[in-house]
Formats: sequence, structure tokens, C-alpha cells
Amino acid sequence: MSQIYEEVLKANEIYVSTFGDKAQLAMPPSRHFAILTCMDARLDPAKFAGLKEGDAHVIRNAGGRASDDAIRSLVISYKLLGTREWFIIHHTDCGMETFSDSIMEELLEKSLQTAVLEGGQWKDVGKTKGSSEGKYIRWLTIKNQPLSVIEDVLRVRNHPLVPPEIPIYGFIYDVKSGKLIEVEEASKVGKAK
Ligand SMILES: [Zn+2]
Repeated sequence: MSQIYEEVLKANEIYVSTFGDKAQLAMPPSRHFAILTCMDARLDPAKFAGLKEGDAHVIRNAGGRASDDAIRSLVISYKLLGTREWFIIHHTDCGMETFSDSIMEELLEKSLQTAVLEGGQWKDVGKTKGSSEGKYIRWLTIKNQPLSVIEDVLRVRNHPLVPPEIPIYGFIYDVKSGKLIEVEEASKVGKAK
């Protein structure tokens, strides 16, 4: 087995040994809120937003975008599990700012292997064959962080399955300081009615 595989199972053993009363946690988030944010490895919502197990829903994807699937999770979060406030958090230096749909399609068409970023340009160095299926996915890339936050808050706000009484806050997390910076325009359009 790989070293990572061993490390994960070892860490889990330690976690289990101190699991304690977390066994009694209820399924609905006790602090009744949800966060939608990027999968970026530098972001740890439990730490930057002060969460412990059982507190909140955290939905993550590339960019923290309000994709159909993210909205599916948010609707379940409210409708079945009672969250009452939502945060949409993008961040500085996001990988989603480094490419466009057409760049991604071209890279995948050359090979499926990991590409490299050289001087701000993606280059495919893979040796195996690629696929043209990349064109069927909307990659939801980002050109401007504040605008993408506003766009996503609006998309959730205007979704027919999202009730008007849920406030949706828009933020950008600064990877250089750990600070959450509110995108005021986004929180304004996300206000509960
Ligand atoms: Zn990101």
C-alpha cells in the first residue's frame, strides 16, 4: 500500500482513540449554517470558521462554485437538515483563475495525465492518450474573484428551490493572511427577504 494510505489509516486510528462523545452527535448541524467553499488544500473551514464536528455543513468543490450539485447540497442542507444561513467563500490565488474551458479541453485532449504550469501557462506533458469529453463539462473557471462570488450568491439567491428567508453571505478568503474578506455587494444581493 502507498505511504499516504498508511498515513491516513494511522491518523484515523489516533482519531478513533479519542472519539469520545462525538458518537452522540445529531445529524442536523447544531449551529444551523452551511459553507460552500473551494477544495483548495490551503483552506481549512473547520479552522478558519471555528467549526467542530456536528456544527455546520461544509460543501466543497473546485472554486467553491454554485454548481448544480452544490445547490443540490444546499437545498438538502436547508430543507431536510435545517440550516438557516449560508456562506459562499471563494479565495485569492485560486487554481480556477489559471485556465479557461478551452484550455482545459485542449489539455485533456492531449492526455489525461497531470499538466504543468509554466510561467502562468498550462502545458500538457502527458504521454498517454487524451479524450475530447472535456468539452461536455462546464468547468466554472474564475476570471475575477469578487464577481464570481456575486455571481454565485445571485445564482443561489435566485434559485426557485431556495427560500427567500435564508441570508447568503459572500466572502473571499485571503490565502496570505487567513482572513475572510466580505464581498459586500454579494452579501447585499444575498440578503434575506
Ligand atoms: Zn480554489
